[in-house]
Amino acid sequence: MTCRKCRETPVIHLPNSNISLCKKCFLRYFEKKVRKTVRIYKLFNKGDTVGIALSGGKDSMVTLNILKSLAEQQRTTKIIAIAIDEGIKGYRDETLKFAKKFCEENQIPLKITSYKKEFGMTLDQILKKLEIKPCSVCGVFRRYLLNKEAQRNKIDILATGHNLDDETQTILMNQFRNNVAASSRLGPLTGIKDDKKFIRRIKPLYFLTEKEIMTYAFIKELATPFNECPYAENSFRGKVRDALNKLNSEYPSTKNSIIHSFLETLPLLKESYKKQDISYCNTCGEPTSKEKCQTCKYLELIKK
Ligand code: SF4
Ligand SMILES: [Zn+2]
Ligand SMILES: [Zn+2]
Repeated sequence: MTCRKCRETPVIHLPNSNISLCKKCFLRYFEKKVRKTVRIYKLFNKGDTVGIALSGGKDSMVTLNILKSLAEQQRTTKIIAIAIDEGIKGYRDETLKFAKKFCEENQIPLKITSYKKEFGMTLDQILKKLEIKPCSVCGVFRRYLLNKEAQRNKIDILATGHNLDDETQTILMNQFRNNVAASSRLGPLTGIKDDKKFIRRIKPLYFLTEKEIMTYAFIKELATPFNECPYAENSFRGKVRDALNKLNSEYPSTKNSIIHSFLETLPLLKESYKKQDISYCNTCGEPTSKEKCQTCKYLELIKK
């Protein structure tokens, strides 16, 4: 088998389009796809300060690397990396070391905050105290702190490393939990324009798969040598991911079809649920769709 475009030895086979690409053609394909997503969905404007939620994992490292080149080309766009240390011993401390080194070598400003500093406990300590699903509390705290840290650093828009696999899993998880309202907050660009308290999120890797990102990260030496989060295996997401991967290996257009049909219905979903979005927590003042935000509810349980 040879590269579809130049006949060189391929590094990847793309099952959905049934083509193989060599290293050079794959890098070009990948970067073009990100640029197209940024352009079509108007993810940011020249002159914006773009924050990148950096965990040190491959998705966020690839996002940072690509947005850095885009910002350099645009000259006026500024980038700042934001990292949250959840306090997962033997895992996050290691990925953050990798992230810090990359930012230092590339002169990228990096702001780090932690659950310990902001909430008084690491995730490891919280999970010893509360019988709770790790990813439920961790996901809520992480989103909350990213938003706060983005506000503190006057960031206009916050990029995350979410990819096509993550998004298809979330769409299905919301369906399985009968939580369509949560799906109205998905898509390549989320949040409400001109809401000063909620920094909008963008997903430049939205149309790229886990496999493509892994290959890109490997070629560009952006892949961390560390394993998955130790809490990930027990998550509902892990089960949905395995089921979807199995289905996609038999029917290679499954994930793409989920994303594209979802994007067709997304404007209607956003319209239906837009009123729910504009609200602020009566305890901490941060954005929420309820009277009290989920972070404050968890903090009450932790402090009991
Ligand atoms: S896998 Fe779950 S517990 Fe681990 S960092 Fe992600 S959200 Fe947090
Ligand atoms: Zn080629
Ligand atoms: Zn709150």
